[in-house]
Amino acid sequence: MTADALDQAKAKVTEAVDRLADDLEAISHQIHATPELCFHEEKAAGWLTAFLEKHGARVERGVGGLPTAFRATIEGKAAGPTIAIMAEYDALPNIGHACGHNVIATAGTGAGAAIAAALGTLPFAGRIQVIGTPAEEGGAGKVKLMEAGVFTDVDAAMMIHGRCGTQVWRPTLGIIKVKCEFFGKASHASSWPWSGVNALNAMIQLFVSLDQMRQQLRPDARVHGIITKGGDQANIIPEHTASEFYLRAPTKDYCKELLRRFEACAQGAATATGCRVTVTSDPTIHDPLKANFTMAELFGKNLERIDFPVDPDDGEAGYGSTDCGNVSQALPTIHPYMRISPDGIPGHSREFAEWAKSPLARTGMVAGAKALALTALDLVAKPEELRRAKDEFARTRG
Ligand SMILES: [Zn+2]
Ligand SMILES: [Zn+2]
Repeated sequence: MTADALDQAKAKVTEAVDRLADDLEAISHQIHATPELCFHEEKAAGWLTAFLEKHGARVERGVGGLPTAFRATIEGKAAGPTIAIMAEYDALPNIGHACGHNVIATAGTGAGAAIAAALGTLPFAGRIQVIGTPAEEGGAGKVKLMEAGVFTDVDAAMMIHGRCGTQVWRPTLGIIKVKCEFFGKASHASSWPWSGVNALNAMIQLFVSLDQMRQQLRPDARVHGIITKGGDQANIIPEHTASEFYLRAPTKDYCKELLRRFEACAQGAATATGCRVTVTSDPTIHDPLKANFTMAELFGKNLERIDFPVDPDDGEAGYGSTDCGNVSQALPTIHPYMRISPDGIPGHSREFAEWAKSPLARTGMVAGAKALALTALDLVAKPEELRRAKDEFARTRG
């Protein structure tokens, strides 16, 4: 296809996003007002799939065995590569859409709907899909979809995430989730304390040991946890305590090193208090994002095309994690951030939840939808760019 034809397609799709912007914002606000937790995003999935269908995409619901997952396809004029745009729409417990997934949902869906509405069938070989990926917060829905084969035929994938600034590339950390339990012996806490073995002491010792361990960790590693059971009643020496931790690092190898050190701290706390300990790690590991600068550069050029400014990284905040990391270790993937709040507003805060339905969130969502759609068009229309993205993927280590 000629550069002119791609340019015309891009202009039409950009206009279509502008035409759909009011409807997309309305859906974004609906999702925001109806926060649904991981794997229970029935309403959000319903609104998003109805919108895609209305604008001409072919929708499959419940893909990969997840009832709230979906796939919407816009076919091309012949067989060719598959480019996926991912959409998340789950909320957080108690604090609602404090990660702004309502914006991710409508940016991804808006990109697909605008392509379908503006072009009908793509004027080149290949196809573009919007993949609705449930349960990013705590459920690793994308890993389940990958295991079920939903990404098997996808050549490259992308999504945007809201943030307090626009950055085309920003790392995320891998995570190993662990549960740690201590088992002691119950006894009357006043009349027979010396007959008990205190599982809460072991737990407190574990937290103290981890706090000391932190001094010797690399600065970008994170170890954080909560006690989910601290005992049954104050007059009983606790016989069983339980906790959950996330061990995070920028590489898979350092995540494993954190697990090794965590196990040593837990064993030490058990030995010191006479308890028995179990450390169980979740088999679903979140991988760190593997960068793809070829695709990130295309996305950046499309932001330039629509005149949307990229911000310097403030260098203030640390990094989060995403199940998109696992996708990025399997195929060329990007996860750029779009500004939906002023500087310095932390994700997972009540302030960020407010910003996720602000006029700034609309601006970020609309620009995100455009840049996603235009980047997907670049990759199907220009096979040499997709080849460069794949070469970079093959060459680099995640
Ligand atoms: Zn989050
Ligand atoms: Zn998020």
